[in-house]
Amino acid sequence: MERRLLLTPGPLSTSERTRSALTTDHGSRDPRFIALTRELRGRLAALAGGGDLAAVPVQGSGTFAVEAMPGTLVPRTGRVLVLANGAYGERIATICDRIGLPSSTLRWAEDVPVHPVKVASALADDPTLTHVAVVYCETTTGLLNPLADVARVCRDAHRPLLVDAMSAFGALPLDANALGLAAVAASSNKCLEGPPGFGFVIAPRQALADARGRAPSLALDLADQWARFEKDEQWRFTPPTHVVAATVEALRQHEEEGRVEGRGARYRESLRVLVAGLRALGFRTLLPDALQAPIIVTFLAPRDPGYSFEALYDALEARGFVIYPGKLTEAETFRVGCIGQVHPPDLARFVAAMREVLDGLGVGSGAPDPEAGGY
Ligand SMILES: *Cc1c(COP(=O)(O)O)cnc(C)c1O
Repeated sequence: MERRLLLTPGPLSTSERTRSALTTDHGSRDPRFIALTRELRGRLAALAGGGDLAAVPVQGSGTFAVEAMPGTLVPRTGRVLVLANGAYGERIATICDRIGLPSSTLRWAEDVPVHPVKVASALADDPTLTHVAVVYCETTTGLLNPLADVARVCRDAHRPLLVDAMSAFGALPLDANALGLAAVAASSNKCLEGPPGFGFVIAPRQALADARGRAPSLALDLADQWARFEKDEQWRFTPPTHVVAATVEALRQHEEEGRVEGRGARYRESLRVLVAGLRALGFRTLLPDALQAPIIVTFLAPRDPGYSFEALYDALEARGFVIYPGKLTEAETFRVGCIGQVHPPDLARFVAAMREVLDGLGVGSGAPDPEAGGY
């Protein structure tokens, strides 16, 4: 069977073992499916640090979980300080607007990390701000925000911190207890390498118990779903049974690979092969290495007039590699992911394919306009 590698931020390439778990039909009330849900929730909570944390899966894509998080966990009298340096931070601000939750957004440029000192002074200046929300890895660019430092500032200021850890969960360190996080949102189909179909929020049990009756949405009420899991381990509405089964299988493989440490190590090696290989072809990354998460890389578009994203995409796709368009408001870019069932030798083959494709397009070098900067 033809195997196309998805070098994207999700959905991602999955293992054959994970995909084969999709072929079994499960009844939602069947004891075997209930055991799968129990294993899923246990494994997810353990990955965030365990203890009093509970994992609440919610049907849909990752954004459903991100939207359920402030809707359920921030009181209607609250006001959220959203930290934004990319599209996903902006999305949290949009969510707050849509659900009628007051918020204020502190912004940075897309290639600049969230600055903890600025967060501290914003919180000190405005006592009406009750909660903070941040994106761990900003998938817009691949930038890693300093989560531990932001968490410390929030703890010192007694403001609960909500984290969109979508593209980092399972590959980058995250101990919600040690960091004192109020909630973490992620999904089945990023670094856990499951199929798309549900998101989840991990939060302390007490916070979920205290949040009863607060959510402005029935379907996205995490407290109600948590109470149901506590009562009889059932999903309230039709669960994505196949995706749950496959994600449990993916989580077993995550453990076998060495959990967060093992998976993170593979992604870091894939990142190294990808970036070194494309830099050798003249390409430059948007971000310096110190800000780059081992998740997805933004490359500046080549200056050569033979280059177009569409031509590059099509030629790489014909060779079995799917890349992703850029999402920057400023520079012209494209993105290449290193997450999913993609291994360092695959990235080496990708670099070789890129060399052939540039030759085929008559693009002499991947070098961007010198004005564009890059690393
Ligand atoms: C992928 C992602 C999401 C969720 O996107 P969906 O398309 O709804 O799955 C949210 N935040 C970040 C940082 C992401 O990378």
